[in-house]
Amino acid sequence: SDVHSGARPWHSKYPLQVKPSYDYPKSNIAKLLIDAETAYPNNEALDFLGRSYTYKELLRQCRKMANALKALPIAKGDRVAIMLPNCPQAVVSYYGALMAGAVVVQTNPTYTERELHFQLVDSGATVLVVLDLLMPRVVKAREKTAVRFVVVTSLADGLPFPKNLLYPIKRRKEHPDLKVDYNGEGVKRWSAFVGQGVAQAICEEVNAEEDLAMLQYTGGTTGRPKGVMLTHANLLANTRQVDAWCYRLEPGKERYLAALPMFHVFGLTVLLNQAIGRAGTLLLLPRFEPRMALETIRRRKPTVFPGAPTMYISLLDHPLAKDGDFASVRLCVSGAAPLPREVQERFELQTVGKLIEGYGLTEASPVTHCNPIWGFRKNGTIGLPLPDTDARIVGESGLEPLPPGEIGELAVRGPQIMKGYWNRPEETAEALREGWLRTGDIGTMDEEGYFTIIDRKKDIILAGGYNVYPREVEEVLFEHPAIKEASVAGVPDAYRGETVKAFVVVKIGWQVSEMQLDRWCRERLAAYKVPRSYEFRDSLPLSLIGKVLRRKLKEEEEENDLNL
Ligand code: AMP
Repeated sequence: SDVHSGARPWHSKYPLQVKPSYDYPKSNIAKLLIDAETAYPNNEALDFLGRSYTYKELLRQCRKMANALKALPIAKGDRVAIMLPNCPQAVVSYYGALMAGAVVVQTNPTYTERELHFQLVDSGATVLVVLDLLMPRVVKAREKTAVRFVVVTSLADGLPFPKNLLYPIKRRKEHPDLKVDYNGEGVKRWSAFVGQGVAQAICEEVNAEEDLAMLQYTGGTTGRPKGVMLTHANLLANTRQVDAWCYRLEPGKERYLAALPMFHVFGLTVLLNQAIGRAGTLLLLPRFEPRMALETIRRRKPTVFPGAPTMYISLLDHPLAKDGDFASVRLCVSGAAPLPREVQERFELQTVGKLIEGYGLTEASPVTHCNPIWGFRKNGTIGLPLPDTDARIVGESGLEPLPPGEIGELAVRGPQIMKGYWNRPEETAEALREGWLRTGDIGTMDEEGYFTIIDRKKDIILAGGYNVYPREVEEVLFEHPAIKEASVAGVPDAYRGETVKAFVVVKIGWQVSEMQLDRWCRERLAAYKVPRSYEFRDSLPLSLIGKVLRRKLKEEEEENDLNL
């Protein structure tokens, strides 16, 4: 397929260079899988805790799924919601729904009833594919929504061994027999539903630039979720752009450690579409857990391991990690949140795998920037824009580029940028102008065109008239040998409006006092940036993609204030 052209990205100076223009495929994104199967039918597509699927078998399952959905019936453009962790059924549901012409709505399995209800109503989904364990939440959440059918699967449906081995005892007690009322209205068992579908070839024709492939709700860190409309062309373009960036990876040969959740757009493009488009193997982890990850790494020797910074942090110094564990890994790409320099350097010392930082956001399918993998990279930056991606730093209003070195908002433009927000014309108009997307992230560009993210506009702390960038303070805390994780947020302060507070996790076996940290920060930061208080914690609240939920920390802080 022309997706694997092996085109080289351009690494010359930006923005002076002439951009190459790739001829992006304009088809249903599910064609990635169909093409991979045609070229490599017997290659291994998935490994799920030891159970393996060839491309042939996977495509057959997807076709059955697509035909079963069609028979419900569903029409082109209908929304199909998926609420699954990484497992074979998540892949089958995704490509199956796309082949049937549906719009996929990925739903975070950790959503509460309320959050799920909101997303089902907002997207207007008519079908929901869900894990049995999550059914207790679904029963209520689907009331007063358009959901007519619920397809229920268990992790065991993707495995060769009995399901009771898989669920922790506690969970089993919580839901004895994993009680699912299969007699509930429109509730269907996965095996019966997919089993009855015919395996006949199917791939709905789409107008790739107009028709939506997904409504992707942005993560919990951004406030109330909005549905980002991503077209087939958006996703194909981003898959191809990332593909060009990793030009040395070989079609039909790579193994991807699928630790990032595929319901998040980072996992979706950089893992799922990327691996399938290259006819690689996805080593599916239902959730990220260092022990399970290390076991899979040793058993299957992945060559590519995209992740979030918190994943790399949790593998560093892990008591079970051994020298040589990462010998097979050619490439680790960190995204979703800032990668502390100290973490990057230590990870690279401990592992052979290259750790590269990239950047993206849901509205851009998601990748817009990455450090050159086999070229010149600058640690601490998010690197260069991907091929065919324009990027600039702009001022408060307008889209005029600011000179190198100046701080402003990052704006991006390219074939991967969303069509808009679902049913929110005003917010769409605010975010998108003349094809440019204002990212809401504050940063700079250097003379050579490398971009650095300083912080999110809305996370900037306004302490007594000064702007404090939480990330700058976090970097200083990360440099302290006793600190494992740190997050800095603005908390209400009667006098200064907001004041800087640090939430820290200390490494096992280490001790550090508030006074010592205070001295550490004072030596390295201007007085107004130094945290006024510290809170020591066992862990920080993380989103499933591994972003520290600053908003949650702030909410907890406000609640504490009220309780006093
Ligand atoms: P989401 O749409 O949930 O993927 O969140 C996108 C946001 O994650 C961006 O707007 C950034 O604020 C943040 N982000 C992603 N990658 C990075 C990075 N490498 N450094 C700093 N922030 C990042």
